[in-house]
Order: sequence, then structure tokens, then C-alpha cells
Amino acid sequence: MPLINLILKPLKPILLTLGHHIFGTIVVALIGVSVLVSWAIGTLNLLLNALQTPVQLWEAIALVLLVSVYTHLKTVKNHSSKYPKKREILFESDNFKWKAIIHSPSFHSVENMPFCNLHDKRLIEYGGNYVCPDKNNDACETVLKSDKYQLLKDIAESEAEHIIRTNNY
Ligand SMILES: [Zn+2]
Repeated sequence: MPLINLILKPLKPILLTLGHHIFGTIVVALIGVSVLVSWAIGTLNLLLNALQTPVQLWEAIALVLLVSVYTHLKTVKNHSSKYPKKREILFESDNFKWKAIIHSPSFHSVENMPFCNLHDKRLIEYGGNYVCPDKNNDACETVLKSDKYQLLKDIAESEAEHIIRTNNY
């Protein structure tokens, strides 16, 4: 038996074990490196995602806010178109202008005091009657006698109802 064999023989199991170990170490190292690389890439991706996330988040929040505002405005618009704000109409009746306020499609009221048809000014009470306060040239001669007031008001009420109904206010 050569001398080398004599030396190697007892070392054989150790070398084999070592060989296994080296192989194992290489396998472990390869797997380890792969895992490490994957982890590093994963971390990088996570980091990139994390950097991108705030932008996407703000975009999402902005979008949600935009949609909310749009929906709100549309609702308000629809609401106001269904139930418009008080509308006013001026109409002529018996040579006076009367103002009707349309609170809703089913409810309106005519203001108590009419306007001068010539000067578009609300009459004022004077000497027991209702007169135009315009003093630009000569004193306006428009007078609404108090004893005729209720009749003219009732006529105006009837007129307003007719105008509102026939014009689909
Ligand atoms: Zn007048």
C-alpha cells in the first residue's frame, strides 16, 4: 500500500465530510445569495413602491374629493332646479305693478303694497291713501284709494295665480 494511501485512508472520511460540507456550504451559499439578492430586490421594490405610494395616495384622495365635490354640486343643482329659490315676478293689474313671490310651485304670495306703474316705486301711505313717492318732476298723480285697495289686491291675487299657473313657474 503506497504511503499516500496510508495517509489518505484515515483522512478519507474527513475529506468526504469536508467535501459534503463544502458542497453544502456552496449550496447554502448559493441559496443564501439568491435569497439575499431577492430580498434586496424586494426591498428595493418596496422602497420604490413606498416612494410612489404617497403620490398615488394623494391622487386617490384628490380624485375622491373631486368626485365628492362634483356629486355635491350636482345634487345642489338638481335640488335647486327641483326646488328653485324664491322667485319674484312683477305684473300689471289695474294700472299698478304688483309683486308676487313664488316660494315653491305650490305656494306664492302677492306683496301687500303695489308699485307705481310709471315710476316703478312702491306706493307709500299718505293721507289715508296710497301714493307714489316720486318727486323727480311733478308729483306723481298715481293714487290708490284705500276704499278700493282690498278689491284691487284681490284682483291682483287672482291675476298672479293665473300668471303663475299658465306660465308653469
Ligand atoms: Zn309714480
